[in-house]
Amino acid sequence: MKNNKKVVTLAYGCQMSERDAETLTEITRHFGYSSSNDLETADLVIVNTCCVRESAENKILGKIGELKKLKERNINVKIAISGCLVQQPGVLERLQKRAPHVDIWTGTHNLHDFHTLLQRVEQGEKVAEIWQEPKVTSEVAPLAEKGKLHANVNIMYGCDNFCSYCIVPHVRGRERSRRPQEILQEIESLVDSGCREVTLLGQNVNSYGKEFSPAYDFADLLQQVDQIPLLSRIRFITSHPKDLSDKLIETVAEGEKVCEHFHLPIQSGSNYILERMNRKYTREYYLSRVQKIREFIPNASLTTDIIVGFPGESEVDFEQTLAMMKQAHYSQAFTFMYSKRSGTLAAEMEDQIPLDIKKRRLQKLMSIQNQESLEWRKNMIGKLVEVLVEGPSKTNPERLTGRTRGYELVVFSGNLETIGSLVNVRISEAGSWTLIGEVELA
Ligand code: SAM
Ligand code: SF4
Repeated sequence: MKNNKKVVTLAYGCQMSERDAETLTEITRHFGYSSSNDLETADLVIVNTCCVRESAENKILGKIGELKKLKERNINVKIAISGCLVQQPGVLERLQKRAPHVDIWTGTHNLHDFHTLLQRVEQGEKVAEIWQEPKVTSEVAPLAEKGKLHANVNIMYGCDNFCSYCIVPHVRGRERSRRPQEILQEIESLVDSGCREVTLLGQNVNSYGKEFSPAYDFADLLQQVDQIPLLSRIRFITSHPKDLSDKLIETVAEGEKVCEHFHLPIQSGSNYILERMNRKYTREYYLSRVQKIREFIPNASLTTDIIVGFPGESEVDFEQTLAMMKQAHYSQAFTFMYSKRSGTLAAEMEDQIPLDIKKRRLQKLMSIQNQESLEWRKNMIGKLVEVLVEGPSKTNPERLTGRTRGYELVVFSGNLETIGSLVNVRISEAGSWTLIGEVELA
């Protein structure tokens, strides 16, 4: 269908949110919209939201406010707000009062139905439709834009873990796995349109397929994806440490295309805090998993998520988190101040930590992790690493950029014709955030 309309899609939050935003964009494409980055000439603006932390929520509220001015300049532009923030119980009413300029409000469970909402709005209605539960497990599997090298692929939805700080299970519902056949077909069609690297997404990929009979788990899925011709690389996030099996570690060690990178969020190094977080593992168990990874895959890179200032976290608990960072040797860590999310168990805990202490702990944690990450990168100097060439570097267009199998960013001089292929790069320098190197021909 062709109608020459333009859609601008803005995604906040995790890769799942980005993936949902892509799905929404793809649906509008089927109805004649083409994607654009220019708000001033847009016919439709979609904001796919996040509510994992208050900071994300505030940014989004600011953006919704800005869009009011856009609507004043262009009365015809339609505005859609979707995703986790809208799905939170009781939030829609508050948002609607605050932002009457919004045309579509929709949650996380009815993405595939977006076109019907859009049609109603195009006929002059304002719509708000939030499903309390998902009614379908499959998704509209969108075809990737031609030439896109990397794609995120949902393998499962929702979460059953109920970590006490986390809003995700409340807004994304219970865990459900997509059928392997459906996932494999989606990846094959992505590869047909030029994709060479996929990231398999789930809140806890290690519990993928737990409802399947006969038994079929995430390691089985990885083995099958590994067989897809022309696909170069497979990544996956997120691995919950409590469910990380030996079978999965062995599969990553053996898989040709599976990258040797585990994103294994620790959240805290203190057993007392881990228990209050309802993470269901201890620091000793976590370290035993790390040891197993290093035993099977000595060069595996490990990244993590850490929360500081969880209710009840003492200086001693925090010191244990710092010690953990030194023991686990993460190549990178995503660090957050605890943010109170209403509706979660931790929000009701009494011993909340004051903001100034959270800020101080975050600073300390980040400075230690920066040293650790630099150390990790320095250890790569002199090594020959495989890089999937993504394109010209943003900071230096004369040079190319891409990622190693361990997800480290590399900047190197090379030939534009190699974009989309794997090259070997000899690392010569470790910068603050990147590695520098030269292509070495085989
Ligand atoms: N399912 C993933 C897991 O278990 O690791 C994480 C998904 S969550 C979108 C990403 C990260 O956000 C979490 O690992 C956690 O570190 C952080 N996070 C979640 N809730 C938070 C909160 N209330 N305050 C601060 N950080 C939070
Ligand atoms: Fe949130 Fe825990 Fe589920 Fe991750 S595993 S999404 S942190 S509840």
